[in-house]
Amino acid sequence: MVLTGRRLRVAAALTCVLGLVAAAGCTGDERDGFRPGAADVGDPYVPGRGNGGYDVAHYGLDVRYDPSTDRLTGKAVITATATQDLSRFNLDLAGLEVGAVSVGDAAAEYRRGDGELVVTPRDGVPRGRQFTVTVDYAGVPTAVDDGALGSGGFLHTSDGAVALGQPHSAATWFPVNDHPSDKATYELAVTVPDGLAALSNGVPLPRSSADGWTTWRWSERTPMASYLSTLVIGDYRVVTGTHAGRPMVTAVAASLPATGGAATSLARTGAIADFLASRFGPYPFDSYGGIVIADDRVGYALETQSRPVYGPAFFADDRPNPIVVAHELAHQWFGDSVSLTRWGDIWLNEGFASYAEWLWEEHDGGRTAQRNFEMQYAATDWRQPSVEPGREQMFGTAVYKRGALAVHALRRTVGDDLFFRILRTWTAERAGGNATTADLVSLAERVAQRQLRPLFDAWLVGGSAPTLP
Ligand SMILES: [Zn+2]
Repeated sequence: MVLTGRRLRVAAALTCVLGLVAAAGCTGDERDGFRPGAADVGDPYVPGRGNGGYDVAHYGLDVRYDPSTDRLTGKAVITATATQDLSRFNLDLAGLEVGAVSVGDAAAEYRRGDGELVVTPRDGVPRGRQFTVTVDYAGVPTAVDDGALGSGGFLHTSDGAVALGQPHSAATWFPVNDHPSDKATYELAVTVPDGLAALSNGVPLPRSSADGWTTWRWSERTPMASYLSTLVIGDYRVVTGTHAGRPMVTAVAASLPATGGAATSLARTGAIADFLASRFGPYPFDSYGGIVIADDRVGYALETQSRPVYGPAFFADDRPNPIVVAHELAHQWFGDSVSLTRWGDIWLNEGFASYAEWLWEEHDGGRTAQRNFEMQYAATDWRQPSVEPGREQMFGTAVYKRGALAVHALRRTVGDDLFFRILRTWTAERAGGNATTADLVSLAERVAQRQLRPLFDAWLVGGSAPTLP
């Protein structure tokens, strides 16, 4: 689903009415009710990101990357459906040069704005019609400065590249509706010099080589939010196998120890995913895996769909760290399969992933979830809300730890049977889609057959310590 940008639409319509046809880029179609899609989904946590007027179903991406020049050449074929009578629309694209755009079989006019590719099809697209957009592009991709999070977006590394980052990164390497409210399936072919790995999300398809270049192919057949896409190119020890009948692909940077903390932690991916499935319901994707990179500019791990990417700091001094694996794998249910509609609800991702750390720690013979809850309760600043934390605090403690406290408070209140039934109902009913905090509260009330809104309010946003359940 795509949110609409009502204000922008009204502004565009007014300029057309006033007759500023040339200046506003209005077309004859707009006078027939066709109008531009919004240039933004209106999510204040990511100004300018996402677009309106269409809903993407699939990205077909064919890219070539040469680490010696840091140059990327790409073709994107995007299949979408118009959600309004559409005279023109935006895609998010940061940097890179566009060589040609077509809509269907017809060449389309296009121009660039700040982080935007604005496409005017030869003919307007009627609401409800499926269409394809083909974009040829090339250039040296750029990073995104995510401040305290470190560098996101496309990073040129010593042996290749990494494209990664939350809340956005995809637009640094392909044209995209770059907001989690518009999920789509992906097919990626990536061509790199022979000897380098090119890793991404989903099921691996057969590789081919020609003239010193190898094309790696990946298919993510379950809808994916764009920030959960990744591309990792470089010198990696890639292990391909199966787990629970599905492909398992793990990769550790060749510069890290072959049997060290990173490799041994990643090797527990299947066992940890199975444990989480026993609590959250069936694993939601058709492949498994994980990638440990060596570039210490990436100071985080990210739950990229079906194949999380871990920065090297999680395995510093060669220490194993299964807890970070449990966190990123928990996101496969909470965040990846059931995704945010808007970033103000990011606790729905991080609260549950943080809670999964407690579940795993207890299962692995460590501290109990109840003990972690008690310790965190004592340490929490209740003035910071978990819901609508503000852009500066979207990765703050209230989102992660206070969110986990709310999850455990729900468990204590309704009991284990109902608690895990609520979680499994949520991951089943919302699989592959998007949801909000209000959706979770109403589902929990329906499953538990009791009022739970005051409980969620107190634990997520109340300004003082809630009474222990
Ligand atoms: Zn997380």
